[in-house]
Amino acid sequence: MAYTPHEGHTHTHGANCGHTPVEHEGHTDYLHDGHMHYMHDGHADCHEFANTSRNPDRCTPDHRCDGHETTHVHGPGCGHEAVPHAGHKDYLVGGHLHHPHNGHCDDHGEVSTRITVGGGASL
Ligand SMILES: [Zn+2]
Ligand SMILES: [Zn+2]
Ligand SMILES: [Zn+2]
Ligand SMILES: [Zn+2]
Ligand SMILES: [Zn+2]
Ligand SMILES: [Zn+2]
Ligand SMILES: [Zn+2]
Repeated sequence: MAYTPHEGHTHTHGANCGHTPVEHEGHTDYLHDGHMHYMHDGHADCHEFANTSRNPDRCTPDHRCDGHETTHVHGPGCGHEAVPHAGHKDYLVGGHLHHPHNGHCDDHGEVSTRITVGGGASL
């Protein structure tokens, strides 16, 4: 798959840069404004999760959402990180991809977030 460099991206992602690190096919990407960025040769490539058995693009009308109210509607600014997946946008909830669909959330599988250690930051 060819990845597109993100033009005009000046931020350098790294440990404690403030963006959520996620594990993607053996490397670490960073969630940034609905994109998934991979630092490469000094620029950011835009990655996305493929449609795989671990992250299937499927409809799961009976999925019970852990981590948010059933009345919660995912969207820009909903408080969850947007994650690109197989040509659409999902939201990261408790290590799972949620895809808002017809009033329910589709479960599009697991994503490992890498909690950056150190820094002594507390919430
Ligand atoms: Zn960053
Ligand atoms: Zn990646
Ligand atoms: Zn990008
Ligand atoms: Zn559905
Ligand atoms: Zn949400
Ligand atoms: Zn999805
Ligand atoms: Zn959900």
